[in-house]
Amino acid sequence: MARAIAIVGAGVSGLTCGVALAERGERVSIFASDVGQQTTSAAAAAIWYPYDAEPSDRIIPWALETFRTLNDLADDPASGVSILELRHFSLTGEIEIPEWALALKARRLNSEIPAAFSSGFALGAPLTDTTIYLDYLARRFRGAGGRIHPGQRLAKLEEVDPTFEIIINCAGIGARELAHDSDLEPHRGQVALVPKMDLPYAVVCDGPPLMYAIPRSGDCVFGGTNEVSEDATADPAATARIVDECSRVLDIDKPDVLAERVGLRPFRRSGVRVERAQLSDGRSLIHDYGHGGSGFTLSWGCARTVAEMTAA
Ligand SMILES: Cc1cc2nc3c(=O)[nH]c(=O)nc-3n(C[C@H](O)[C@H](O)[C@H](O)COP(=O)(O)OP(=O)(O)OC[C@H]3O[C@@H](n4cnc5c(N)ncnc54)[C@H](O)[C@@H]3O)c2cc1C
Repeated sequence: MARAIAIVGAGVSGLTCGVALAERGERVSIFASDVGQQTTSAAAAAIWYPYDAEPSDRIIPWALETFRTLNDLADDPASGVSILELRHFSLTGEIEIPEWALALKARRLNSEIPAAFSSGFALGAPLTDTTIYLDYLARRFRGAGGRIHPGQRLAKLEEVDPTFEIIINCAGIGARELAHDSDLEPHRGQVALVPKMDLPYAVVCDGPPLMYAIPRSGDCVFGGTNEVSEDATADPAATARIVDECSRVLDIDKPDVLAERVGLRPFRRSGVRVERAQLSDGRSLIHDYGHGGSGFTLSWGCARTVAEMTAA
């Protein structure tokens, strides 16, 4: 008989775990204070790219598994996933192409380098349009029998109803309190949404300054910032800096700003935590948090590891 599994968190990690488990026939419910568009996940750019998450020997296999799954999802227009050329640039010197990128057929850029940069490489990468993808995951989860309970803020994981035998912790930065994990650090990120533009590829530079321009179906995401801060309110000065830098690099007139978004990347100094544990009442607990700037990039790889842990 299917076991009752509770997931805490309805961002990309919780929803992806929900789909992976419900489609294996488990009875799964998600409890969360915020769901989908209200979460940090909704603020993400969200292109497939390993960034601001540790340690690389663990995250790259998860990232590559996610890459394959998102590539398959790109065949379904309802998913909001598409494949886009990602151009990654360096401000100085010759950029080193990481091994994982070479495995994905990355190519060195020669003539297509904007004046602001010195070198770069390109690869085809999945882009998940969060305005579509998070709702797609929620629909797919419900379609497999899953239930979502929004507005459920938990002070501790033991508050999950005792009828659930296994609890999966996908609380993002909220895991600091729920798992008493002082290793988690909020890496605040701010982006500006500007009108859709004629940009056939994504531009990324790790900086400093961190800069990216990600064209989506209905708009374009300009970024970004990355600092240790809890402040989830948008800073107009940061938006102005982002728009200035992106317009300079892309050599375009400054576009209007449609909206600003802020999210706290759940960075964990000792690495992404996908691990078995136990609640104080003896129930099984599996953690899946601490994905930093790579929550989408790692989502399917981590969710499948979680699913295997529940089966073992
Ligand atoms: C500006 C920005 C750009 C980004 N760009 C990218 C990108 O291009 N590619 C990429 O892969 N990643 C990117 N990221 C990172 C990515 O957004 C995160 O890694 C990801 O959203 C983390 O997802 P999550 O589901 O673990 O956490 P969240 O999305 O934060 O979800 C946490 C969930 O837990 C719930 N919760 C928390 N505490 C409690 C509690 N006590 N009780 C009940 N519920 C609780 C919340 O309500 C929420 O539902 C970006 C992030 C930012 C901020």
